[in-house]
Amino acid sequence: MNEILNLNINEMPQTQFDCSCGCRHNFSVHEMSIRKGAIQDLPGMAEPFRDGKILVVFDSNTYQAAGKQAVELLKGNGFNVKELLFDTGDDILIPDEKTLGRILEEQDLDTSLMVAVGSGVINDSVKFVTSRSGLPYIVVATAPSMDGYLSDGAPIFSQGHKISPVAHLTYGLIGDTDILETAPDDLIRAGFGDMVGKITAIADWDLAVKANGDYRCDTCVELTNRAMKVTFDSCDQLPARDPKALGDLLEGLTLTGVAMALVNISRPASGAEHMLSHFWEMDSVERGVNPNHHGIQVGVATPVIARFYEELEDLLPEGVKDFCPPHEEIEALLQRGGAPYRPQQINISRELFHESLLKGYKVRPRYSVLQFAKDKGVLETIAGKITAELYGE
Ligand SMILES: [Zn+2]
Ligand SMILES: [Zn+2]
Repeated sequence: MNEILNLNINEMPQTQFDCSCGCRHNFSVHEMSIRKGAIQDLPGMAEPFRDGKILVVFDSNTYQAAGKQAVELLKGNGFNVKELLFDTGDDILIPDEKTLGRILEEQDLDTSLMVAVGSGVINDSVKFVTSRSGLPYIVVATAPSMDGYLSDGAPIFSQGHKISPVAHLTYGLIGDTDILETAPDDLIRAGFGDMVGKITAIADWDLAVKANGDYRCDTCVELTNRAMKVTFDSCDQLPARDPKALGDLLEGLTLTGVAMALVNISRPASGAEHMLSHFWEMDSVERGVNPNHHGIQVGVATPVIARFYEELEDLLPEGVKDFCPPHEEIEALLQRGGAPYRPQQINISRELFHESLLKGYKVRPRYSVLQFAKDKGVLETIAGKITAELYGE
């Protein structure tokens, strides 16, 4: 029972076990390689798909970081390779109808596998398209920037709205620490911010169990706790791009990914802090400006959600508050890892901030501390108070 907890991360693929939560879990990812030089494992991972064509997808940055090497390795090993480059210049690629449609256009009838070379958007887009077209995909991580490498959900945009439809799990994951070392600073900060968000995600999960009767898997909670420990223990070295700290961060993000994959929901990794982040992101997209990186926003939102826990302390079910440290502690943690920790630092206006506290719970139907505050009739009061605390009266 719960034997996945005894495995190291690269041993976890294709594990099935009966869990103490009453479910039988199946981690169906076929292969993972997180280590120095891991990209060398790509041809071996792609071997079962040799009969068809392999579509390798990247943007100009990820081409330099790993795409070129991935293509050369596959070609050198006799694979039939087709390349798709998203040349976005300085703009951030948005996973919208245009991007998704472009990938589908490049999928030929004899394509047997896609390889996503990238972190956020490239991964989400390839994940979504292959889930609909019925192909497997392998992701080559280029930055420890988020935990979506192993989630089966694909956050995408539809008609200007951020939605998170169920897609599918990757066939394989390559996390090469030599490649991660080339990641831009803001993507490292983003990955760290996304990990900090697990603090309130786990608190929200406990609240949802106690106040809303939600299901919880303690094995997944333990995996997420282990992920936080691995990451936070070495986060002081992240701003200096220490290779071990970067590897630890990717391991933390991947462990949370395993937890999500086991329960087929993002609950172990995502609570109200993600709702605020998605709300801010939708606003940017609506205004036609580049959104901040997902994890940067999640990090900034986490101490804000901790303030909700502080305000609600007297109303919370017993024991819930123990899961959420004081907001000052979370802000200090973000600073240790070199990430922004206040909404003003990432240009969230007072109006948008206040609105997101009031309406964030509508972003997705998931019980969180925002819903709890709403149900108790104190959402508006707390939103006003926190906004005043952060932006002045
Ligand atoms: Zn996230
Ligand atoms: Zn379980």
